[in-house]
Amino acid sequence: LPTSRIIDGKAFAEGLRRRVAEAAADFLSRSGRAPGLAVVLAGEDPASSVYVRNKAQQTVEAGMASFEHRLPAETGEAELLALVARLNADDAVDGILVQLPLPAHIDAQKVIEAIDPAKDVDGFHPENAGRLMTGLPALVPCTPLGCLMLIKSVQPALAGLEAVVVGRSNIVGKPMAQLLLSESCTVTVAHSKTRDLPAVCRRADILVAAVGRPQMVRGDWVKPGAIVIDVGINRIPAPERGEGKTRLVGDVAYDEAAQRAGAITPVPGGVGPMTIACLLRNTLAAAVARTGVVVDV
Ligand code: NDP
Repeated sequence: LPTSRIIDGKAFAEGLRRRVAEAAADFLSRSGRAPGLAVVLAGEDPASSVYVRNKAQQTVEAGMASFEHRLPAETGEAELLALVARLNADDAVDGILVQLPLPAHIDAQKVIEAIDPAKDVDGFHPENAGRLMTGLPALVPCTPLGCLMLIKSVQPALAGLEAVVVGRSNIVGKPMAQLLLSESCTVTVAHSKTRDLPAVCRRADILVAAVGRPQMVRGDWVKPGAIVIDVGINRIPAPERGEGKTRLVGDVAYDEAAQRAGAITPVPGGVGPMTIACLLRNTLAAAVARTGVVVDV
C-alpha cells in the first residue's frame, strides 16, 4: 500500500526557531535590546504550567527576554487586569500572552480585550481577528499560523484547492479557515452540527482536524492524495505500554489516514512544536512593528 509523506513539524519548527533567533540577534544589535515576551499564568493547572515553562525556555533559547508572571489561582480579575495594563505600558515587553484557561472567577474575554492589540502575540484580541478577516496586517493565532506553514511546505500554491476545517474555535478553526481563504482556497468549516461529516471531509484537498476527539477522522474520510493536518492533542489509555500508561493521539486515525493522504502530520511531532515557534515569530513581528527596527527574517 502507498504511504504518505510525513510532515515533520518538529524539524520545521526547529528551522523556524533558528531563523527567529538570528533575526532576534539582529534586532538586539540594531535596537540595543532583545525582543521581550511576557507570559502570565494564573493558577496551578499542570498542563498550563508545562506550556508556560516550555514557552519561557524556548524564548530564552531564541535570544529573547522572557518575563514570567505566575499568579496564585485566587488572584482577582482586577489584579490581573492591572498586571496586563503594566505590561502594555512596559517598553521592554513586545508580546503578552495570558495562558488559558483562566480560573473560573476571571472573565477571560475581558482579559484578552485588555491586551494592547500590538502586543497580542496570541492573536486572540478582536482587533487582530478583525484585521485577519479584512486582510489587514495582523498578529495571527499561533497554531493555525503553524498549520499554514506546514501546508505550504508541501504545497506552496493553494489557490483553488478545496479546504475543509473541522472545528470552529476562535483559537484554531476560525482563524485557520480565514488563512486558507486568504490563500484563495475554497473553504468549508465543519463542526458538531455538520451533516455527513465523512462526505464533507472526502471533498478536501486540504483537511485540517481541530476537534479534540481522539482519532475521530477515519482513513476512508480522506481523499486520496490529500494534505492532512492533525491539530488534536488527546491523551488516551495505553495498556500495551503498561498498567496506567497513556499516550498522545490526534483527532485523525493516523495509521489509516496515512494510507490515503499525500502528506500528513503525526501526533506528536506535527502541529504541536509549531505553536511555540510561531509564538516566537509573532513576538519578533510585534517587536519589529512596534519599534520600526528592520531585521532580516
Ligand atoms: P474546542 O473544543 O474549542 O473546539 C472544538 C471544535 O470541534 C468545535 O468547533 C466543535 O464544534 C467541534 N466538534 C466537536 N465535536 C465534533 C464532532 N463530533 N464532529 C465535528 N466537529 C466537532 O477545541 P480547540 O479548537 O481549542 O482545540 C481542538 C483540538 O486541538 C484539541 O484537541 C486541542 O487539544 C488541540 N489543540 C492543539 C494545539 C497545538 O498546539 N497543537 C493548540 C490548540 C489546540 P461546535 O462548535 O459545534 O461545538
